[in-house]
Amino acid sequence: MSYIETSSGKWEVVVGLEVHAQVTSSSKLFSDAPTGFGVYPNENVAFFDAAIPGTLPVVNSFCIDQAIKTGLGLNGTVNLTSLFDRKNYFYADLPTGYQITQFYHPIISGGYVEIETEEGEIKRVNLDHIHLEQDAGKSIHDQSPTKTFVDLNRSGVALMEIVTKPDMRSAEEAASFLRKLRSILRYLKTCDGNMDEGSMRADVNVSVHRPGTEYGTRAEVKNVNSIKFLAAAVNFEVERQISILESGNEVKQETRLFDSSTGKTKAMRSKEDAPDYRYFPEPDLLPLVLEQSRIDTIRSTIPELPDSRARRLQLDYDLPHYDACLITSEKEVADFYEKALGSVKSDKELAKTLSSWIIGELFALLNKHGKTILESRVSPEHMGELIFLIKTDVISGKIAKDVLELMWETQKPPTDIVEEKGWKQIVSVDIIRDSLKEVLAKHSDKVAEYKGGKDKLFGFFIGQAMKETQGKANPQILNEVLEELLGE
Ligand code: ADP
Ligand code: MG
Repeated sequence: MSYIETSSGKWEVVVGLEVHAQVTSSSKLFSDAPTGFGVYPNENVAFFDAAIPGTLPVVNSFCIDQAIKTGLGLNGTVNLTSLFDRKNYFYADLPTGYQITQFYHPIISGGYVEIETEEGEIKRVNLDHIHLEQDAGKSIHDQSPTKTFVDLNRSGVALMEIVTKPDMRSAEEAASFLRKLRSILRYLKTCDGNMDEGSMRADVNVSVHRPGTEYGTRAEVKNVNSIKFLAAAVNFEVERQISILESGNEVKQETRLFDSSTGKTKAMRSKEDAPDYRYFPEPDLLPLVLEQSRIDTIRSTIPELPDSRARRLQLDYDLPHYDACLITSEKEVADFYEKALGSVKSDKELAKTLSSWIIGELFALLNKHGKTILESRVSPEHMGELIFLIKTDVISGKIAKDVLELMWETQKPPTDIVEEKGWKQIVSVDIIRDSLKEVLAKHSDKVAEYKGGKDKLFGFFIGQAMKETQGKANPQILNEVLEELLGE
């Protein structure tokens, strides 16, 4: 258990999240208006989204399928009957004066996400439920000194609100949860998880209490839109609440805002002035009734998810846990990895080397060129071939880095590049011995120093011989022969 220890004793942290995830869908939840990003204001607005009198909501069955898929992927129960409710409030960017949501009977109940704790243990973060709702429009205040503009492009876009139980015990656990959730949603292709475009954001509930006592009063930090900010908001709240409690005061239940420029949260409204939304069943929609067969069909489309895929890679290829988790956190990376491995007959020996090269060198290249793995100029097959050349001692790891750079530039197979450049590794003991003998003869003074106890010079001789052979000498043979020569 990770407690916070201060001079007054131990504190336990409790975090629960309400994650808003935009459903991946080309049209909105109750209208056929498109949902595309980066268009002109009010370009994606149907009459219904603008609350033109006489228009009615029509349920987009694809959005329902997406919510079902999400629920199944997160181990939840799909409710065969769920209901839509009206949540009433006034806002300039909400032309109906209400939001359609699911308050009393959500589409998904329960479920969980597995995370790894700092102690390396697997822990379940339980979900309370997932419900569907409409997003609101956006008020734009900074285009004119005297006017506010309203953009209804987001109005009516389908959101899933994924509500957890208060199961997380630190900022790190909350961050792991959100990272894992995003990874699963991306595997499912039900939410793109792009937090900087607003496709995913979280309301963060935080409280502290003494271990063994009841949970403390929570504060809710609204609309946190990055994993880094999530961790910062939790840490700030924990410190703030502990210092309030330690000075003998009480934490107020309130809604707060996180300011990313200061890393602090500030009060927005207290529980007393929380609005009364007057929820009631949406009269323009029938209950959402689902056939079991529809759920079963969707279940059959769920891909292997990151946790089971990581476990399989560990079991099948002896891949270390750390590598397996990194490789599988994005589906496209895992696909690349397995394709590369498959092209060299999925040898266990190659599995770890391949993952190190993808995590290290390939990611660095992608980063440098600002590309995703899907845009990689090195194909999985060529990557597999490169690892094969390293493992079979055709080239050294050092030269392989240059080969990889050229693969990116030319898109040629590594074997061709090695051939053209004459970069094959020297594995002949005789050639290596000759070049070492030359090095030792040239530096006879240093050989004497070495024999006099200056062990460090071993590395110097290796370096010189590598220079002599343009980095092509097999390092292991080089070491062995040098030891032999110096021992004479
Ligand atoms: P409300 O509907 O008023 O927002 P809920 O009880 O549904 O309240 O909880 C909302 C969120 O707050 C959930 O994610 C839940 O896990 C979390 N939560 C509830 N109690 C606490 C607490 N004492 N400390 C931290 N988080 C909490
Ligand atoms: Mg809430």
